[in-house]
Amino acid sequence: MRLHVVALGCQMSVADGGELAQPLIARGMRPVAEPKDADVIIINTCTVRQHAEDKALSLIGRLKTWKDENPARILIVAGCAAERLGGRLSKRFPHVDLVVGAKVIDDYPRLVEEALAARFDLIVQRRGNFAAPGVPFGWTSPVCAQVTVMRGCNFSCSYCIVPAVRGRESYRAPEAVLAEVRAKTEAGAREIMLLGQTVNSWRRRDAAGRKRRFADLLRDVAAVPGVLRVRFESPHPHFVDDALISAMAEVPQVCGHLHLPLQSGSDRLLGLMRRNGSTASFFEKARRLRSALPEIELSTDIIIGFPSETDDDFQRTLEAVERLRPAWAYTFKYSPREGTEAAGRPDDVPPEVKEERLARLNALCDGLNEKAMRSRVGRVVKILDETGGYGRARDGFRVKWGTPAAPGREFRVRVTGASKRTLLGECHER
Ligand code: SAH
Ligand code: SF4
Repeated sequence: MRLHVVALGCQMSVADGGELAQPLIARGMRPVAEPKDADVIIINTCTVRQHAEDKALSLIGRLKTWKDENPARILIVAGCAAERLGGRLSKRFPHVDLVVGAKVIDDYPRLVEEALAARFDLIVQRRGNFAAPGVPFGWTSPVCAQVTVMRGCNFSCSYCIVPAVRGRESYRAPEAVLAEVRAKTEAGAREIMLLGQTVNSWRRRDAAGRKRRFADLLRDVAAVPGVLRVRFESPHPHFVDDALISAMAEVPQVCGHLHLPLQSGSDRLLGLMRRNGSTASFFEKARRLRSALPEIELSTDIIIGFPSETDDDFQRTLEAVERLRPAWAYTFKYSPREGTEAAGRPDDVPPEVKEERLARLNALCDGLNEKAMRSRVGRVVKILDETGGYGRARDGFRVKWGTPAAPGREFRVRVTGASKRTLLGECHER
């Protein structure tokens, strides 16, 4: 049996896609790159913006022919859009065999077993055939492993559907996180990316009853033998505190990059967004980070066209981005999500105004990105080889240098140029 997984959306969705595949791989299925070669397809969906959901729905629609060619094929739809739409999905697409919402992912191995057992005696018979636990499936590369530490979100930003589809926060036990980190480094991982919707809100007691916060977890993960680098996504500015900043500054394995979503430079809009912080508190955190870690690069998320956004609000956003100087930024047009507080307000920024503001914002962000990349030319940066002659600097910039190639090793590379989003370099030491 051959399995194909498509993960749409954020890094958590990609990591979850890997987890959804595990029970099937453990039953003898083999991952394939092409959907047409697969007997089972899992689509892990995203619903954060309408556009993301539409993409998932159109993909599901197109898979009807694949299913019609052989009705024994199995289509599983999981993730955030599956959670939001639930039964509406199977009604609209009768060729979907199983809908698994994002909230039940912990229950998924049981669900999938129940749903498939009847139709797939074959899979059950093959149980035990597969003898490779910890297959690097769904990892960006075997060198970089992702480890989910928390799920859900306890905030309630007025535009955001994540709390509704992912539910309240739950935190993995530190022992479980560390065991996964150890297993993945033993299998060759050198960079660990800790994942969660608000990853740095993680806190939990360990088995000995000690209170552990995210900063402690970072230190513990970095101390696992073989771990050269630690990153985390996506942090929430609210939980960027002195303990976290000190851990980032003191632990050499923790990489000098932080994604710090600002959303808007207008305090009026941040209030309406229920963002739980002002531009002043945001910039105070950015200042503390940069003074403790002079080399750190920040990236950010910005939403334009939130209901009632004026030219003045937008101007403040441009000024805030200029002040923050993000190395890169993800910029989004506001997308009303059914059931959220903001969706109760008129989506009153006209489409052409949204378009124009987005273009101006992107031009600013692209300029800042180019400037940051150009400033690296001539410098020597330490890169971790991820896929053979290609990897990332500690500050997150992608670097391509060619030879020598040794996935899993760190090299010093002299940056000689920059092409689109990637720095070019040559090896400085062998
Ligand atoms: N938990 C993270 C963000 C997760 S969602 C945080 O709060 O930092 C990723 C990004 O999608 C958000 O930062 C926001 O910029 C964007 N986003 C979320 N909902 C959106 C919506 N309804 N319309 C447009 N962009 C949205
Ligand atoms: Fe959404 Fe806000 Fe939670 Fe981020 S913190 S996932 S934007 S509700």
